[in-house]
Amino acid sequence: MNELINKFSRFHPVRYLPKSVGMTLRSLPLLAVLLSLCLLTGCGLFSNLGKPAVDHLALGNPSQARVVLANANNYLMKKPQFVLSYNRSKGIPNWVSWQLDQTWLGDVDRRDDFRADLSLPPNWAKVDPEDYSRSGYDRGHMAPSGDRTNSEANNSATFVMTNIVPQTPDNNRGPWVDLENYCRDLVDHGKELFIIAGGYGEKGAIAKGKVIPPQHLWKIIVVMGETDLGINGIFENTRVIAVDIPNQQGIKTDAWQQYQVTIDTLEKNTGYDFLANVPEPVQNILESRVSQ
Ligand code: MN
Ligand code: MN
Repeated sequence: MNELINKFSRFHPVRYLPKSVGMTLRSLPLLAVLLSLCLLTGCGLFSNLGKPAVDHLALGNPSQARVVLANANNYLMKKPQFVLSYNRSKGIPNWVSWQLDQTWLGDVDRRDDFRADLSLPPNWAKVDPEDYSRSGYDRGHMAPSGDRTNSEANNSATFVMTNIVPQTPDNNRGPWVDLENYCRDLVDHGKELFIIAGGYGEKGAIAKGKVIPPQHLWKIIVVMGETDLGINGIFENTRVIAVDIPNQQGIKTDAWQQYQVTIDTLEKNTGYDFLANVPEPVQNILESRVSQ
């Protein structure tokens, strides 16, 4: 190491600097090595800094939703717990996108405090939990309550009606919930997931036309090979799971696996571009594959 530093300083301007500054600069390579070792071995030096805020849209914004009032049917809403595109005419989200890892999971009880989302623009009509009463549909979470159990506030955040769509009981309590549980199993085994879910198509309106239930519900799960890398943790061999499940009765005992499709199929059905932030060659590979 000393040899290296000597060699380095011979060709380096540090030799012309005052001695104390030179000494400090000369020890930089050593410091860098120690720092990297420290980070690699996970020493506690930075443990109090915590992780940077999660980017729930790391993989892309599939409908290019924006926070623009004129964009009422593709209106971007960013929350600490998830991000969504709201459809004002339908009274439901087009999609909801969220990151899931162990840090979100704890033992908080389900808050069950369904409520209108008051963070919508003030003069927009807001869907109330009662709008689903006697409709025959469940108030179906997109980002599940069970994915946000590390604090009461984070769990409660999933109960705003902008995270809810009218979901048939057999879908919600059948293959849909089974897949939600499977996701948390993956997280229990150390995985980090990027998940996006939504609906497409229209069924008969409920709540006097205020809410339009989707005909199909879909979900995409990217199972990160390495955690905390965001888009840089996605490779050709990264596992992606995509499903397209009809929003109807009579499917309660069906396995979610039988509804697996390619992301290409979902792009065709929804008109969205998923994984838009993933470099094109990798995106093409991942989108044409059905997970084993
Ligand atoms: Mn549910
Ligand atoms: Mn795409």
